[in-house]
Amino acid sequence: MQSWPRPSIPRLVDAGLGTGPVVRVHDTARGEVVPTDPQGAARLYVCGITPYDATHLGHANTYLTFDLLQRAWLDHGVDVHYTQNVTDVDDPLLERATATGMDWVELAERETQLFREDMTALRILPPEDYIGAVESIPLVVDLIGRLESTGAVYRVDDDLYFEVRSAERFGQVSGWDDETMSRIFGERGGDPERAGKRDPLDCLLWQAERPGEPAWDTELGRGRPGWHIECAAIALHHLGTAFDVQGGGSDLVFPHHEMSAAEAERATGEAFARSYVHAGMVGYEGEKMSKSKGNLVLVSRLRAEGRDPMAIRLALLAHHYREDWEWFGDEIEAAQERLARWRSAFARPSASPAKAVIDRLRGALANDLDAPAALAAVDEWCAAEGDDVDAPGQVALAVDALIGVTA
Ligand code: ZN
Repeated sequence: MQSWPRPSIPRLVDAGLGTGPVVRVHDTARGEVVPTDPQGAARLYVCGITPYDATHLGHANTYLTFDLLQRAWLDHGVDVHYTQNVTDVDDPLLERATATGMDWVELAERETQLFREDMTALRILPPEDYIGAVESIPLVVDLIGRLESTGAVYRVDDDLYFEVRSAERFGQVSGWDDETMSRIFGERGGDPERAGKRDPLDCLLWQAERPGEPAWDTELGRGRPGWHIECAAIALHHLGTAFDVQGGGSDLVFPHHEMSAAEAERATGEAFARSYVHAGMVGYEGEKMSKSKGNLVLVSRLRAEGRDPMAIRLALLAHHYREDWEWFGDEIEAAQERLARWRSAFARPSASPAKAVIDRLRGALANDLDAPAALAAVDEWCAAEGDDVDAPGQVALAVDALIGVTA
């Protein structure tokens, strides 16, 4: 699948501004902030959208989080190999298509294209591999075959299930007890009560064809892939095992990331990801943001209202990525004002020296992507006066490179 265009990123080291520190992020599995330690290029997998309601601010917040991570790695001198999927066939997409009378393929293409345009406007770094579920069916079939050879796959009617407890480290990502896992599994699209399963938490690998739904002919029979195995297959194929970071929103901790990791580790006998990093949820004025509530704040809507994408970016960056927070309409006003202040500061003939603020920016970013601290550092520099004629250009360059906001 086609990715979106890559924004230019200045290399601060080429401008004589040195490099950033080792990047530390919060790993959900270990429950603490840990240094990343890529061997060669950093390998990053972020779960992509199911294209039926793109791109609300929650999506934008998640992909911006991993854009910051890449910028921090690049500034440290580490190359990045980034893979993202698009779940372009799944229940919510098919349900939306049916409800709106749209062809599911057209709906998926339209929303994926809107997502690309929003990501481009926000200057989010694109994945090198942007991979759809449909195009990766052969990878999924192959991985299910590997799982079958370990004896961890069984049939319920014509569907295939994975015995989650056959994976030694099942539970490693969420760290939750059985009761919590069972409850959340049911709430998030799992089927703990289905008759014929060996364990309520066992997850669907392959769904046999249902009347009126798309299906593909494979050696597993006619059907379509489950969601967790889709990501496991795409990540393993493009990044290999023990890649550096598996990312997504915090609603993916369980079951999605737990299940993908269990499947991949059972099939390969090796670790899936080295760290699991999760962005918080963005609500709307006291409620969960969702299509069903009709309160989705869409990036495309804000853009159509004439909001500067850089202000949208700044509004999101004003919150730490791990925080759950609520969007209120005035967030964008505050961000617009901050953007104007920054731009006029970058256009000054002179300012206070750049080194201290660039060090603070780098330190904030490398410390678990602390964007609010980075914004505060730039705010303070903007408010101070000085006679360094190089500083405005250098700080503008660093803000572009590290937090992706252009003058
Ligand atoms: Zn995923």
